[in-house]
Amino acid sequence: MTSETPTSPTVPHSQPVTAQDGAALPERAAIIDLAAIRHNVRRMAEIAAPAKVMAVVKADGYGHGALRTAQAALDGGASWLGTAHVSEALALRNAGIDAPLLAWLHTPNTDFTAAIEAGIDLGCSGWELEHIVAAARSVEHPARVHLKVDTGLGRNGSTVESWDQLIGEAIDYQDQGLLRVVGIFSHLAVADEPHRPETDHQLDVFREAIALAEDAGIDPEVRHLANTPATFTRPDAHFDLVRVGIGVYGLSPFADQRSDDLGLIPAMTLQTRVANCKAVPEGQGVSYGLHYKTKAPSTLALIPLGYADGVPRIATGGPVRLAGRTYPVVGRIAMDQMVVDLDAALDGAERLALVGTPAVLFGSGRDGGPLADDWAAAAGTINYEIVTRISGRVPRVYVDSEARPDVAPAEDGTEALRETETRQETDA
Ligand SMILES: *Cc1c(COP(=O)(O)O)cnc(C)c1O
Repeated sequence: MTSETPTSPTVPHSQPVTAQDGAALPERAAIIDLAAIRHNVRRMAEIAAPAKVMAVVKADGYGHGALRTAQAALDGGASWLGTAHVSEALALRNAGIDAPLLAWLHTPNTDFTAAIEAGIDLGCSGWELEHIVAAARSVEHPARVHLKVDTGLGRNGSTVESWDQLIGEAIDYQDQGLLRVVGIFSHLAVADEPHRPETDHQLDVFREAIALAEDAGIDPEVRHLANTPATFTRPDAHFDLVRVGIGVYGLSPFADQRSDDLGLIPAMTLQTRVANCKAVPEGQGVSYGLHYKTKAPSTLALIPLGYADGVPRIATGGPVRLAGRTYPVVGRIAMDQMVVDLDAALDGAERLALVGTPAVLFGSGRDGGPLADDWAAAAGTINYEIVTRISGRVPRVYVDSEARPDVAPAEDGTEALRETETRQETDA
């Protein structure tokens, strides 16, 4: 670890950050609590048992850092890892992860050879089979394949009409020693809306597809269908393995339930410090377009996070927790910054004291602080997109609140910034 001085400018994503002094933390940080990730995986493993857990760490672990998330998820009881792309799985393998890894979204340019050599399981919806087999021939090693059937989502997966043919071809290649059918899987379309009947239909189609494959002589190790919402609401969809993504990060996939309701802990706290604080008269316009005007003499606090950091530009009104209170963002969110109206005429000393004060956009929700869900609501999107889009401009800082539970990130950020002995480092 290297030392950062408090006056250092922006810390690049890859640069280690010292834990010696809270002031040495980056001035903008996505703080990831590894204990929360372990907790969330343990929680879902309990619900899913006896089915096993695949932690989905695609998209850089939904923005949390794929490698650190993968390690924490395995520590929490996950036995598989899942990514969309082979390249994502290879990065984990090359970093020393030896757990079973599945990647399911390919193009003809996907490096199937490298995947087979690295022992990465490959989802196969149809056309990939020839490519996978060619790669297996070239490296003289059988591929591990999970056949995917489209049970209604209408994205990837073999159609029900082509399923017979895919099974037949896979069995032929398996008999030739070119591959092993390790799994059969599908993906749900509306599990986040538990009342919808389409999930029942998808389950029926999935069971039929499995029966067809087994009757033809396929003996898969794992059948898997459930995502996070189905893990919570559909025990009949658990099969041998659940593929959980958003729940790993402590966020709820349901519109009407929050993390707390599910026993999950949001793992990411997005925080910064106030960059400026000044007195303004009534009628002061704020930010590009001047769409907001103060209604009385007031105080504006400048927050140095913007859409280049991944905060949606559309999310005016999103909450910022600052000095124990939550304020809405006013005016347009800019590339680097946004403004909150403190709605009070503070004196000069009070204003100066606020400069450098921690400001939290979202976190664990403890102390009534804001959640990624609130930013999702402000942006008209889902919490998945909020955390996943936090950009590489924001350093990821890893803490472990179980190592020092007393220094878990607080909603005002003070404890996280003060924490000293917690294991902590940025993504290398
Ligand atoms: C992303 C993904 C998941 C995880 O979904 P969550 O809703 O985040 O739990 C599971 N399976 C597949 C195929 C996916 O693409």
